Amino acid sequence: MGYRGRFAPSPTGPLHPGSLVAALASWLDARAHAGQWLVRIEDVDTPRCVPGTDQTILAQLSVLGLIHDEAPVYQSHRSALYQSALDRLTEGRLAYPCRCSRKDVLAALAKLGQERPRGGELVYPGTCRKCVHGSAGVAWRFRTDRVDSLPLAWQDRRLGPQSQNVEQYVGDFPLKRTDGCFTYQLAVVVDDATQGITQVVRGEDLADNTARQILLQRALQLPEPAYLHTPLVLGDNGEKLSKQNGAQALDTTQPMATLAAAAKVLGLPAPPDKTGSVAGHLAAWVKQWRELYNLPRD
Ligand code: GLU
Repeated sequence: MGYRGRFAPSPTGPLHPGSLVAALASWLDARAHAGQWLVRIEDVDTPRCVPGTDQTILAQLSVLGLIHDEAPVYQSHRSALYQSALDRLTEGRLAYPCRCSRKDVLAALAKLGQERPRGGELVYPGTCRKCVHGSAGVAWRFRTDRVDSLPLAWQDRRLGPQSQNVEQYVGDFPLKRTDGCFTYQLAVVVDDATQGITQVVRGEDLADNTARQILLQRALQLPEPAYLHTPLVLGDNGEKLSKQNGAQALDTTQPMATLAAAAKVLGLPAPPDKTGSVAGHLAAWVKQWRELYNLPRD
């Protein structure tokens, strides 16, 4: 199968200079491989989504010349696919229902002498692995102790060799929440497979989710795409740029300058001809991208 890439924004706000970097990188990589570029609206976490933002994001991409090859897919329409993946994992005894509150998890960790959450995320100690619960009003978790490939190793096209022991890093992670929403980890894996995605290009803040996603791909016997995580734009506080730390709205009235700022973060200098069209600039960056990542010329 040929190259299929995607940009998968969560419609919690319009694109900002940080999210544009991931969008541009995934578009450039798809074009550099003469592949398809898809947009998936990741509105699985419905309470966090802002109505209308999907249309704003699609309009911003279009003004910037980043045109998708297929109609955008919405995660909120795909619950049946996620449920059937969860059912398969449950049948294979790789998923189980969990009734622990955050307080329960903290108490269980304290008992084990492991109070400190890592990066704010609690390492779930598997309390409910052996419990038999009904299925209403519970969360569902993936069993990380049933997979043989821990620690998991993989290659990132930009970051190089990576590895993670998921059981130690996050523990049995959620697949479905108590409010009925499927989690990002499950949805992204099901969608990447269903959409035939061969290359995932996204921001480096998501790099440490990759091991969880590969575990799920293996458990569900799905193909494993290749991964490339792009540099982040940092906000005033040195953390990943977000609305909370000063991200300005994208200036789509100046598409060239806006794209050039994102390209610079990716290590691609602005083409010398400042008068060229957006399409001309994008084509020049596709060539530079091929050189940067040692891809064959067209
Ligand atoms: N929806 C995620 C985000 O906006 C991106 C997920 C992905 O590319 O895997 O941060």
